[in-house]
Amino acid sequence: HAGQINGTTGYEEAAAQGIIAGINVVLSLRRKDPLVLTRDQAYIGVLIDDLVTKGTDGEPYRMFTSRAEYRLLLREDNADLRLGEIGHRIGLASAEAHKRIKDKREQIAGLREQLEKSRVLPSAEMNGTLESFGSAPIRVPITLARLLRRPEVSFADLVKLAPELRLIPSAVGLQAEVEIKYSGYVQRQLEGVERSRKMEKLRLPDDLDYGSVQGLSREAREKLTLVRPRTLGQAARVSGITPAAISLLSVYLKKKLA
Ligand SMILES: Cc1cc2nc3c(=O)[nH]c(=O)nc-3n(C[C@H](O)[C@H](O)[C@H](O)COP(=O)(O)OP(=O)(O)OC[C@H]3O[C@@H](n4cnc5c(N)ncnc54)[C@H](O)[C@@H]3O)c2cc1C
Repeated sequence: HAGQINGTTGYEEAAAQGIIAGINVVLSLRRKDPLVLTRDQAYIGVLIDDLVTKGTDGEPYRMFTSRAEYRLLLREDNADLRLGEIGHRIGLASAEAHKRIKDKREQIAGLREQLEKSRVLPSAEMNGTLESFGSAPIRVPITLARLLRRPEVSFADLVKLAPELRLIPSAVGLQAEVEIKYSGYVQRQLEGVERSRKMEKLRLPDDLDYGSVQGLSREAREKLTLVRPRTLGQAARVSGITPAAISLLSVYLKKKLA
């Protein structure tokens, strides 16, 4: 019923809300805090935040990747690394799965370090292999990580240049490849996440009386009272809430907390 009631369409959308509802029923019975996945942790976080904060505008809501601002981080290939820790904490991922994920994380870090350190030397044979990948020859020693940053070179190609890498599991190689190749873009998104986390940390009291926040427009008061955002960050995503309204709220919070 989750999809029907909350106004989404699609199997994954319905299942995503169903599993979170189920998890939170159990957490509530155990008198623990609810699980709220954030927009940078999972598409489920984007879906639920959109539904709660923005509503569905009359049309059934569908989860498009374009709705997520951190799509570079929300990849299928890193779902275990993103969510394994949380899954284990709430009792859904076994100790064995948790250890496997932890080991994988360590292997990826180790491999990245190895690729940043290991160099290949220019030679006719090396340049012949590079040419077979459609990649430019090298004239000076170069680290494997630098080669991997070339768009046309994959981790599987590196294994041909450095046979000692052949024992690395392909899932570990793929992660290291993505992290090294796109590190500039990923870094920029992580900085965005960090900025918005600061706003997400500012909790708005559940019983906040928006009528008593000085200077807020009637529209902002009505919308905030309807949505009752949990954090200042969520308030900023409510449609029609302006940066001016957010700074009024932030002043109000500071006064209240002082
Ligand atoms: C023809 C069609 C094709 C679709 N194709 C796709 C597709 O290809 N891909 C995709 O992702 N999505 C597709 N969808 C959408 C998807 O099926 C729904 O969005 C999703 O199933 C909604 O899940 P839900 O659990 O919210 O509701 P439902 O799956 O509708 O479940 C509601 C359940 O509640 C029961 N129920 C209703 N009233 C009561 C009552 N009073 N007491 C007890 N039980 C009650 C119903 O019998 C039903 O079992 C399609 C939908 C249709 C109609």
